[in-house]
Amino acid sequence: MSPAHPLAAPLLAGNRRALAKAITLAESTRPDHEREAQALLADLAGHGRPSVRVGLTGVPGVGKSTLIEALGMFLAEAGHRVAVLAVDPSSARTGGSIMGDKTRMPRLTVHPNAFIRPSPSGGTLGGVARRTRETVALCEAAGYDVILVETVGVGQSETQVAAMTDLFVLLTLPNAGDELQGIKRGIMEMSDLCVVNKADTDPKAAIRAQTELRVALTLLTPHDAPWRPAALRASAVTGEGIPELWAKIQDYAATVNLEAKRRAQTAVWFDELLREAVWRAFVAGQDAGRLRQLRAEVERGEKTAVAAVGELGV
Ligand code: GDP
Repeated sequence: MSPAHPLAAPLLAGNRRALAKAITLAESTRPDHEREAQALLADLAGHGRPSVRVGLTGVPGVGKSTLIEALGMFLAEAGHRVAVLAVDPSSARTGGSIMGDKTRMPRLTVHPNAFIRPSPSGGTLGGVARRTRETVALCEAAGYDVILVETVGVGQSETQVAAMTDLFVLLTLPNAGDELQGIKRGIMEMSDLCVVNKADTDPKAAIRAQTELRVALTLLTPHDAPWRPAALRASAVTGEGIPELWAKIQDYAATVNLEAKRRAQTAVWFDELLREAVWRAFVAGQDAGRLRQLRAEVERGEKTAVAAVGELGV
């Protein structure tokens, strides 16, 4: 057996610098770094502590960062070790996002029990999702027991985040009547919890919104589902509803078989990676000019897509 990677021991001991270095390695696209990161992840496999992975989404401005800071502070003060990650498929947030995250969560950033890592910039959504999954594994090996994964940007990263977390939280606003129209049904269906944030701004409207959400969630949830998605109210600014949110998360973790859910997620992830690898290998073995030509013929309507793919012999 090869000796353990030099970062493995300090990382397992909770050293933040080692964790940050390991994440940088996992985010690198250099083939030698990728190999090193895989070796490190293999060394760490099985060392993760029991954790809960929470995905959070909501339209920009709904209060995701403010709520993550409020929940994160509540947990960090209670002795939990909290890691905050983001999945951001837009390439607009480059190196500057580190500063952005520091100002977005100023108190949590400096808390000794918290670790905030901005989204790796650029790359495809699949690539960003892969690196975030590896970052989750590294944070857990370093002893972080609450992993908060935020979706940044609109409408692309939700499925990826829901597929890598134990439960998925949708944040909405008190004027949900209008807002619900804009929330894709698919996102509601993925959500295990809905939180009406900014309840302090209009308490009555927040109660109405909570009731509407409850009805919508009941309609969307199959009768035999092991978990009934809940609708809560909160204010990230006053802290109202934050302990209740954490209680609901724990309730979920105690109700749903997280181990089985994670195993199923990993199997789906394997399928996804395999599909991508097979596709890459196939395309690499093809004449690029011929592929372009077939694609153009399909586009012009001269061939059906099915016939064109058939011509490739697959
Ligand atoms: P994000 O884009 O979803 O991350 O939203 P932010 O966390 O940046 O919040 C957007 C704005 O809403 C900021 O000015 C926050 O201070 C404010 N905000 C967030 N949560 C609350 C809340 O519960 N109550 C009130 N009154 N303002 C809030």
